Amino acid sequence: MPLKALLLITAALGCAATPVLAKPKAETPATVTETPEVIATRLRDAALQSNAAYDFVAQLTTRFGARPAGSDSERKAAEWSAAELKKMGFDNVRIETFPLVIWERGAESLEITGPFAQKMVVTALGGSGATPPGGVEGEAALFETYAEFIDSKADLTGKIVVILQPTVRTQTGQGYGVNSGSVRRSGPEEAKKRGAVGYVMRSLGTEDHRFAHTGATRFTGVEGLPALAISPPDAEQFERLLKLQRAGEAAPLKLKMVSTPTVRTGGQSQNVIAEVRGSKRPNEIVTIGGHLDSWDLGTGAIDDGAGVAITMAAAKVMIDHSLRPERTVRVVFWGSEEVSQPGDLGLSGANAYARSSASDTHIAAAESDFGADVVYALALPRTDYADFNKTLGKVLYPLNIFIAREASTGGGPDTSPLNARGVPVFDLQQNGTDYFDVHHTADDTLDRIDPRKLTQNVAAWAATVWMIANTNVTFQPTNRK
Ligand SMILES: [Zn+2]
Repeated sequence: MPLKALLLITAALGCAATPVLAKPKAETPATVTETPEVIATRLRDAALQSNAAYDFVAQLTTRFGARPAGSDSERKAAEWSAAELKKMGFDNVRIETFPLVIWERGAESLEITGPFAQKMVVTALGGSGATPPGGVEGEAALFETYAEFIDSKADLTGKIVVILQPTVRTQTGQGYGVNSGSVRRSGPEEAKKRGAVGYVMRSLGTEDHRFAHTGATRFTGVEGLPALAISPPDAEQFERLLKLQRAGEAAPLKLKMVSTPTVRTGGQSQNVIAEVRGSKRPNEIVTIGGHLDSWDLGTGAIDDGAGVAITMAAAKVMIDHSLRPERTVRVVFWGSEEVSQPGDLGLSGANAYARSSASDTHIAAAESDFGADVVYALALPRTDYADFNKTLGKVLYPLNIFIAREASTGGGPDTSPLNARGVPVFDLQQNGTDYFDVHHTADDTLDRIDPRKLTQNVAAWAATVWMIANTNVTFQPTNRK
């Protein structure tokens, strides 16, 4: 059945249109004659009629708002989540803590002084350095692209570097990926090496609203170069001023920037872990999850309240239908995904989980961390179980999801430390065309989530995870343990 038809049915039942919490149903447990795909199909259809994911992300964002890594809000959200997971009937619910160096935003502003005087809309990059309280002033060194900045031999001593490179809109998020490592992560340090006193970049975003998109740069502490992102319209304003300069109609711009973040050592963050314990092979683990922390500007609805809600709800639908998988399905709400740490580290929660689960046998792992739009493809790791992909494809096609021809490679950020040690990762690929419109901005709020699209995600995750947890499938790269 096409997704549209399935959604029409759920709408007719009054489920999708009116968010209500799915009540636990005392359905008959699976009989031995039912194949995994029959039950996966049943779970898929049940997930489409449940609002568990939307209800969870609504409550999370309403009760706790923004959940910056290491904040009281992130900790309280973790404690509340653990209590909710217990109420839902998850097994082995626990919170695992780990140390964190906490970077906190201070005052921040950017203005052109002198000729063309005007204020810009900005936000500081996480982990970046501080100006004195009164700010720094310097001549602007404008570059249309990052490559132009790297190639330039211009003297940048005492200047404020401004990178105007846009983010290309794509379904896969590649337009963001190609910029985040260079422009945002390495840019400030490159500029500092060349004597600059500040770094300004066009936000990594695909919307032309006047919001700035934050995100982590390499952690330098307050001693590092102050670094700001400007909104896309402000970057375009700089582009026009650059043209005037090139036409000889404007002198170099004078800028004043203020950014006064603070850094606190001795902080702490945490992961929330819960399981649907396997009935036959409980020591074989399928780990799924999202990250509970968010940036401070919005309420972290699409990044990544949606991801924790989707993966939680995919496991919950099994509990609600009294269906216990043969392998253990483990849900992890990772902490502190967004922030960088001293020593070029980051992904503190993901690394803590990789350490605490080092002796576990992971069959596969996956993260939902790309918003709340529909899934259109499933990329699986290579497998010798030839029929697995075909069978799962039959369950997913009615949701408008195909099995990607290419094997999965990276997975989500929080599964990367697992993948690095050989755990196979899979990837339910979401449509990310609009994801970077609001990503890491004040606009990342609940209204951006379409409940029906969220349920399509849950249905896909529930079916996929059930099939992995109830067959003998194994993937490459195999677990080295
Ligand atoms: Zn995220």
